Amino acid sequence: MSIAGNLSAVKESLGKCHLVAVSKTKPNEDLMAAYDAGQRALGENKVQEMTDKAEVLPKDIEWHMIGHLQRNKVKYIAPFVHLIHSVDSVRLLKEINKQGKKIDRVIPVLLQIHIAEEENKYGLDEDELHELLSSEAFKEMNHVAVQGLMGMATFTDDTEKIRREFKSLKKLFDKTAEQYNDEKLNLKELSMGMSGDYEIAIEEGSTMVRIGSKIFGERN
Ligand SMILES: *Cc1c(COP(=O)(O)O)cnc(C)c1O
Repeated sequence: MSIAGNLSAVKESLGKCHLVAVSKTKPNEDLMAAYDAGQRALGENKVQEMTDKAEVLPKDIEWHMIGHLQRNKVKYIAPFVHLIHSVDSVRLLKEINKQGKKIDRVIPVLLQIHIAEEENKYGLDEDELHELLSSEAFKEMNHVAVQGLMGMATFTDDTEKIRREFKSLKKLFDKTAEQYNDEKLNLKELSMGMSGDYEIAIEEGSTMVRIGSKIFGERN
């Protein structure tokens, strides 16, 4: 099937859930095929690749950073990134705030939560999340807008395990929104679900899925 065909098939099963089409490693003509089919939200996991693509592709593309982000690279995407899904430390959040301040922009972000059993996945745990949101330092960060949480389930065939992990993230999301949402903080997005598990993620309350291979084909 074509990228446009894959895209419309995926979209049919999303309901109100937002779609980020994950275009990492794919050439610009593939991104343009998605763009021409109406897709504007694209996800990348590397700063250099995202900036290279953003420079030459249409300006109304919404670029989502979904991969682990190093602090010294924040400045390159700060002016244009639409949403950073992968904020996994206070130090990174502080750096994003600092870069936002420099260019007078409030940068939208999600906090990545570690829900998988795998050690190699990044993210905050529940205690670190509460520590961050209740800290004085956070209250003074006026150039970041924390819009929600992001998480990745364990890579496994055990769908019940995946479901439990998404369920626990949704529960944490609801609890955190209830506890902290105020005039400064509005947690509303829950980014969870990829090609292999997005249907479960949507059933468990995802508001934004990040789908790559199901749209663009397998990556090398
Ligand atoms: C690559 C990636 C995706 C998309 O993965 P697919 O399995 O190709 O859909 C989603 N989220 C993150 C964080 C990724 O790195």
